[in-house]
Amino acid sequence: MTDESSERKTTSARSFQTRWLRDHSWLRFENGAMFCHFCRISKKTNPFGSAGCSNFQTSTLQKHKDYKDHEDALHEEAMRDTFSNQQRRVMKEQSHAIITAMKAVYWLAKEDIATVKYNSILTFLEEVGVDCVKDLHIGGNATY
Ligand SMILES: [Zn+2]
Repeated sequence: MTDESSERKTTSARSFQTRWLRDHSWLRFENGAMFCHFCRISKKTNPFGSAGCSNFQTSTLQKHKDYKDHEDALHEEAMRDTFSNQQRRVMKEQSHAIITAMKAVYWLAKEDIATVKYNSILTFLEEVGVDCVKDLHIGGNATY
């Protein structure tokens, strides 16, 4: 019995278990090798991030999960998420800045004030705390 069960264990240890995909959301199985989704994205040089790992053992997966490279890859993914949210926020702020500038120009026109005051009103908006308009100044050599 001991021989038979150890033989079975050896056999199963050498083949990929599809249940591992359920247990490890980062795990991918392609072309007979195991990969890590996050290590590949982060271009890690460990087997899961590069050529693929064919050491089909539960302990290999556990070791990879605890591996510093893998933890770094997860952190990088989290940072990418944050960066992308940050980018969306900046885009929203830029849109707000452009709308504010256009409202300022519209107000100048409506009030029959020369557009030469455009920079002046942007400076005023900055002074009252509308920071988003600071990049919208027209160069000093422009004359209208
Ligand atoms: Zn990984």
